Amino acid sequence: MCDDAIASYLKVNNAKAAVDTCVQLNKWYRAVELAKKHSLPGIEQLLSRYATHLLEHDNIIDAVQLYREANMFSEAASLLYELGGKAVSDQKDYLRAKKLYIMAGMMMEDYRKTRNAAAQEHREGSTKMYLDEEYQSPETARMLDSTWRGAVAIHFFLTAQHNIYEGDIAAALRMALIASEYDDVLPEKDLFLLVALSAAMAQCDRHTSRAFTHLVDLVNVESELKEKLQDLAVDIFVEKSNRRGGAAAAARQNKMEFEEVHCEECGEPTEDWVTQCPAC
Ligand SMILES: [Zn+2]
Repeated sequence: MCDDAIASYLKVNNAKAAVDTCVQLNKWYRAVELAKKHSLPGIEQLLSRYATHLLEHDNIIDAVQLYREANMFSEAASLLYELGGKAVSDQKDYLRAKKLYIMAGMMMEDYRKTRNAAAQEHREGSTKMYLDEEYQSPETARMLDSTWRGAVAIHFFLTAQHNIYEGDIAAALRMALIASEYDDVLPEKDLFLLVALSAAMAQCDRHTSRAFTHLVDLVNVESELKEKLQDLAVDIFVEKSNRRGGAAAAARQNKMEFEEVHCEECGEPTEDWVTQCPAC
């Protein structure tokens, strides 16, 4: 029915009525296609309504594809970033989240390129600038800048787990500690459970106890898990202190220590894995 109606309207050169019919029958893709083909005005609004329709029906990936095809890269990036956050919080699927954050980052690169090209065109006075600074709220801009940070954080987080499986516990602890600096983009609980595990395996007392204390202080950690962590901490440290009495040398051999380095800016001592001086 839709095809017949479109054909009839096009026959009498009424492309707008054909597009309206598509919209009424929820044939959004066809509507956009026709609007583009016949250079109808208001295509951005049509795309936006189509995207809203897709989002209302949870077709998020289709909405991303639509925005991408329409060169609306920041909208595509925003959806991908949101999906990445859900992959972490709802599904704990960090690999999927990393891919989504990378895709969001790439969309943002395309967005910046488009904006720069539009600004250049604007300076040359040929057309109005399509994408301007007011196009996004500061909140969205801040969120979109976090896309690469999210991908980097997950990279360290997954590398630490890979190192554990490979048996390289020293590398695992280093990676887990670096990942723990990204608690603004990844859940603190997951980050510090990984630090606690790798530090305990590496027999690094300082970071084991710090990670356990941190976890017990977190408000979103279940009381049952907190009790388990407290019991585990007692087991680890009591066993260690007993062992020290009998075989101090053996215990020391297993203990992992980080090298002390000094910040080039302020001279504060810190451990060699730290990427950002805590004093600067
Ligand atoms: Zn410093």
